[in-house]
Amino acid sequence: MRKILLALTASLISASALAQDDNTANAPLTIVIHGGAGALAPGRYTADEEAAFQAKLNEALDAGYAILESGGSSLDAIEAAIVLMEDAPIFNAGKGSVFTRDGKNELDASIMDGSNRNAGAIAGVTNVKNPIKLAREVMENSVHVMFAREGAEKFAKERGLEFVKPKYFHTEKRWNSYKAGLEAEKQNKESSLPIDYKWGTVGALALDANGNLAAGTSTGGMTLKRYGRVGDAPIIGAGTFADNNSCAVSSTGHGEYFMRLTIARDICAQVEYGGKTVDEAAQDVIHNRLENFGGDGGVIVLGPNGDYAMTFNSAGMFRGVKNQAGVQEVAIYGE
Ligand code: ASP
Repeated sequence: MRKILLALTASLISASALAQDDNTANAPLTIVIHGGAGALAPGRYTADEEAAFQAKLNEALDAGYAILESGGSSLDAIEAAIVLMEDAPIFNAGKGSVFTRDGKNELDASIMDGSNRNAGAIAGVTNVKNPIKLAREVMENSVHVMFAREGAEKFAKERGLEFVKPKYFHTEKRWNSYKAGLEAEKQNKESSLPIDYKWGTVGALALDANGNLAAGTSTGGMTLKRYGRVGDAPIIGAGTFADNNSCAVSSTGHGEYFMRLTIARDICAQVEYGGKTVDEAAQDVIHNRLENFGGDGGVIVLGPNGDYAMTFNSAGMFRGVKNQAGVQEVAIYGE
């Protein structure tokens, strides 16, 4: 009898060890978002402005999490969160995007499905209301991964997406930054460029009840970007990456550096091949590699077991997380 009990206990122990090894089995539903990294030091915003950012971040978290909670997919969750931030004029994505050097808004976005590594991306669109929806259409309804400019817009028409007049994206705040940027450029004074000259962007990651990860990123790019410039946000492996075997990442910051360092893929490769936690990989890539290279910005990272990181080397990053363990946090500035 004692032997049987011992054997039973041993098999129970090994079953629970197995369950712990396979620690994705009970991974908490999770959504992580960012609204851009940059020169966000305390005092940068008034209390009212801070409250508006926090409210919008919470709204995006709630919208995405509600989908996860009702059994929806991580792709649907991130799309809902990103659409909300694209529609909010306070972020540099969709309405509220920054201006190119020619005074236009040209939008980039990408999305990736961690369950099969399908991906979709679009660059330089000027009249599609929600670029993230178009990126998803590219992923799900074309044989390609990326469309640019007129081609992307033609595809959007074929897919019946919502169009707006380019003026829709215009906001007074971004226009003033653009004009100040042009003026500073004329005087060759980098130091007098407006504080929100660079950065912005929105991104989201989610882990659903089936254990699937997804990542998405959407941006207006960088103020004063030149003719046809495309940043990292629509580049799979730089601005966005997702794979259930490693992690999901969305980036924000000086895109040229994120592209040259393939930041999003590097983080997930360190997790996949190097056995690092998402936090260790994010710390290494942002605080060693990106920083040593002279770039700045940040990332959000989510692993298949629900571990997450929100890491940046800029003064701040709009960010937030909500999960099944009861965490709901949003923040703007550094620790
Ligand atoms: N990474 C974006 C770009 O370079 C900008 C940003 O994140 O704010 O286009």
